[in-house]
Order: sequence, then C-alpha cells, then structure tokens
Amino acid sequence: MLVTLNDVMMIAEQQGIAIGAFNTPNLESLRAAIESAEELERPVIVQHCQMHEELIPLDIIGPIMLDHAARASVPVCVHLDHGEDLDYLKRALDMGFTSVMYDGSVHPYEENLATTKKAVELAEKYGANVEAELGSMGKREFGSGKPGEEDDQKIYTDPDMAKEFVEQTGIDALACSFGTTHGIYLTEPKLNFDIVSGVREKTEGVPVVMHGGSGVSKEDFHKAIKAGVRKINYFTYMDKTGGTATEEYVESVEKGKPVFYSSARAAAFAAMKENVKEAIKTFSMID
Ligand SMILES: [Zn+2]
Repeated sequence: MLVTLNDVMMIAEQQGIAIGAFNTPNLESLRAAIESAEELERPVIVQHCQMHEELIPLDIIGPIMLDHAARASVPVCVHLDHGEDLDYLKRALDMGFTSVMYDGSVHPYEENLATTKKAVELAEKYGANVEAELGSMGKREFGSGKPGEEDDQKIYTDPDMAKEFVEQTGIDALACSFGTTHGIYLTEPKLNFDIVSGVREKTEGVPVVMHGGSGVSKEDFHKAIKAGVRKINYFTYMDKTGGTATEEYVESVEKGKPVFYSSARAAAFAAMKENVKEAIKTFSMID
C-alpha cells in the first residue's frame, strides 16, 4: 500500500530501526526493492533521483513506482530523491508521490532555507512530506574522483544550525552529512555518529537520513541507527551487484553463442534482490 514518509518514519521510530530507501531507475531495481520488502514483511521507500532523469524520465518511471507501491502487501513510500528545483518537485507531487526531497545543499544557507520552506508549503497541499539537506556530502550521485579528493568537498552538518533549519522550515526528515559519500567509496568511510545524535538532541528527534548508505559496514549501519538514523539511501552497491551479475552471465555464454538481453536482466534482478534483502535485514536490526 502507498503511504507517506511520516508513516514509515513512525514505524522506524517505534522499532528503533531505519527504513531502506532504494533508487529505482529501472524495473529490476524497483521489483527487487518491493519484493524484498514483501518477503521480509518490512516497510520500504522507493525513490527516483532527479539526476537519474537521463537513465529514465520521471514521467515514465513515476507512475510505475506508484502502481507497484499501491499493489504491494507492505507499506511503500514513493519518494523523490535530490529534487533540485520546485518545478520538478511539483511534477512528482502532481503524479502522486507521497514524499519529496528538496536538496538545496549546493546553495548558500539562506537560500536553502527559503526554498526548503517553499517546498514544505507546496508538499503540504498534497498531504506529502519533505526531506531536506543541510551540510554537503560532496558529490550528488555516481561520484567519481580520486582517493583523498572527496573529503575537502564535504561540509559536516552543524547540530545547532540543524535545529534552526528544522524549526524554521517544518521539514519531516533531514539528510545530514556525517562522513558518508555518494557513489563508490574510495577510502574506508569514517563516520561521526556524534553529529547524528547531536542533531537528534537539538531538533527533538527529527528523523535523520543517511545518504551514501551503500558501502558502509554492518557495524557502522547499526551505530548510525542507534544514534538516530531512520532512513538509509541505498543504491550504488545494489546497482554494482546487478552489473556484476550481468557480467557473469555474459562471460558464462559460450563464445559464438548469442547473449540475450532478457537473460542479463533476469540475472541482474536476482542478484539485486538478494543484495536489497541483506540491506533491509541490516537496517531492521534483524542481523
Ligand atoms: Zn543522496
């Protein structure tokens, strides 16, 4: 069933867990996310990132995401990830998305604050929720770079600033920068959990969102959840798993024999589903 971000954040809060938020720029990842959640009987968030517009347009994948969510046996929030302008947010809301992220982290603080406020006013008209971001994780998605390059792009979230930001904007969840990175990790992540607990304390418990969630150890996920992370964005390593399965399928085909696209997709789907299941178990503190 289709639910809002607040609905699944409430479940996360009550159970002291985080809800997995999976980017779904293709049918295989969407089915992997929803079927995994159904088999584990856990709520889930499926999300479309504005930067994935070139992989698949919102107009194509959005209605499919909403349809799959409505038919699911578990609560599914359909969320817009890293919305960069209000027009794009409105397109997702008009379609029926129950949650949107406005990412103004690349803009100066005052501008981020003012536009985030407008995003909240807009989403309220639809009964939808808003995630915003304070601080910067550097690269937005699919980051590429050289080792050592990533850290100087990061601006860690300041808990006092977070308090003012949450109070003034009325957002429902806050993406915080505490050491994670989008894309593939070039060096082992060093996470600062005090930022998460500081933000939680100062904001009286706003759900903290962890971006760059794939590639982090199970131990660090659990520490982050204990500190107050309630939504974990997970994509790159799931996508990489699908890629590896495709590669293995292609390599398994005898030289000179045909390689079938549908078989590659089926292999990627099965592998991504396993990967998502493991992630949901970790975020649910099952193991
Ligand atoms: Zn992100």
